[in-house]
Amino acid sequence: MSPITVPEGNLITPSLIETRGNASASLPTGHSVSPDHNLTPQTMCPAFGSLRVLTRIDGVQTAMVTDTGCLYGLTFVTHFYASRKSIAAPAFGTRELVAGNVAEAAIAACTEASRMPGTKLVAAISLCVAETAGLTEEMLPPQINGVDVILVRVPAYAIHSHPEAKDVAINAILKRYAPPRTELTADGVEKPLTYDGGNQDEEEMRRKVIMLGEVFPADPISVDAVLKRLGSGLIATLPSRNLDDYKLARRVGAIAAVHPFYGGSVATLRAAGVPIISGAPVGPEATYNWIKAIGAALKLDPALTEHVAAEEREKCQAVISQVPLKGRILVCGYEGNELLYARLLVEAGAEVPYISTSIQKSLYTAADEAWLRARGTREIVYQKTLEQDIRALDAYKPDLVLGTTPLSAEAKARGIPAMYYTNMLSVRPMFLSAGLAGTIQLIRDALERAPRYAWMREFFEGPMPAEPPPSTVNTMD
Ligand code: SF4
Repeated sequence: MSPITVPEGNLITPSLIETRGNASASLPTGHSVSPDHNLTPQTMCPAFGSLRVLTRIDGVQTAMVTDTGCLYGLTFVTHFYASRKSIAAPAFGTRELVAGNVAEAAIAACTEASRMPGTKLVAAISLCVAETAGLTEEMLPPQINGVDVILVRVPAYAIHSHPEAKDVAINAILKRYAPPRTELTADGVEKPLTYDGGNQDEEEMRRKVIMLGEVFPADPISVDAVLKRLGSGLIATLPSRNLDDYKLARRVGAIAAVHPFYGGSVATLRAAGVPIISGAPVGPEATYNWIKAIGAALKLDPALTEHVAAEEREKCQAVISQVPLKGRILVCGYEGNELLYARLLVEAGAEVPYISTSIQKSLYTAADEAWLRARGTREIVYQKTLEQDIRALDAYKPDLVLGTTPLSAEAKARGIPAMYYTNMLSVRPMFLSAGLAGTIQLIRDALERAPRYAWMREFFEGPMPAEPPPSTVNTMD
């Protein structure tokens, strides 16, 4: 068969096809940022991350400031995910954009949104269109009809992934409802004011924790149970449906930022003087360290903290001894929590040589990356492309793939067990011993299904060739 020529920028790049035909192609070792990052669209519009979290908050009404093309696609997909809310928007065609009255049109859309029943906050979302991306906070009134107005700027050329767009939205709310405040000490030094006075309620609040990260609903319940044993408690999880939870963020004793992509929100809360704990209680070691970090941040009884942390670590170890994992797994999602899942799998005994994610490398990915590399992970790719994941299939010959839709489809076509990361993993608990038990049982079951995948492949396509031929890969997630 003659080689296929694919123009640059098409959904399948020539490098993918070359890789398939070149079994000896070796991967660059040790790189952490995509070496061949290209502009091939790999997911739908990242701004949907913002729109999704905002439309889920009670009392928040969105006004999309963009052209009709973006508006159509994003409105469609938002309703597909059951937003059950209207989305206000100016009628921006080419004529209106060229006329240059973007701010006036945005204010008109915000006014319309403010009149919708039950509205407490209007979020004006500015997207890619050059004319609307120039909208600034100062061009919008802080309130319309007594309703607060914020600006959420998520042009896809600056915000590359859904998770990072969620951070932009949450950060905009925190800046409005939990802004840094300062007080003067007796020495005349200005320092962040982290609580409002010294009454009983505020003291109580300073013993509580807010978790920052979209998690399965069972996780906050098990985290709260452990924190209560320490004399603390989980008071909210952000993103929350309740606007009042955002107002508490400046007053609690600590923020547990369990996902690494909330960098903007973390910076806002850090500036407000709230202690931040990064990482998450996934697997025995991380669980132990996380509970100890909470105890230290809240200045809880050290002996009690050690006791609870050690006990929860033992429970995790007991789960793993009953259901140990064995096998080579690739973790390739776009949720932004892939490093956490990889940690959990490695602690349970799996080999995870390759991890890829849609988010960028940051200060908050550093600890998990170092931990994973010290335990055998060879490649961690940030802002990944599907082509890189396909090459990892060739290079690492996994026993199981936890991947995006097209990667999972490609793995299954090769007779390799695969699960869609978002639908199968992000919809179940993963924290502490309770989350660990459910997750590793699921993974173990999937690993044990390998013979069935091989049989199915052989049934439809005959014996496996030494190298699979190129096949069409649809990169739309
Ligand atoms: S906001 Fe940007 S990425 Fe999103 S649909 Fe519009 S042009 Fe596309």
